[in-house]
Amino acid sequence: MAEHAHISCQEVVELVNDYLEGTLTPHEASLFEQHVNFCDGCDWYLDQMRTTISTVGRISEEEVPPEARDRLLGAFREWKRR
Ligand SMILES: [Zn+2]
Repeated sequence: MAEHAHISCQEVVELVNDYLEGTLTPHEASLFEQHVNFCDGCDWYLDQMRTTISTVGRISEEEVPPEARDRLLGAFREWKRR
């Protein structure tokens, strides 16, 4: 693996849909996983995207369904209350 093989948080955000849809190359996917393993912020972000996708089925770029977001936020609020 080349030493310069690194991606930024910005790139993780841009690639997350492709990653979850399995359309990244194996090389891109391994770079993505490598970053997420060491970055709490991106790990959290990936987790949120997974949850959202499992709720609404799929996600298109720049189009997080407001309904899914509301449901997600509602779930957080209820969880906090307990
Ligand atoms: Zn990151």
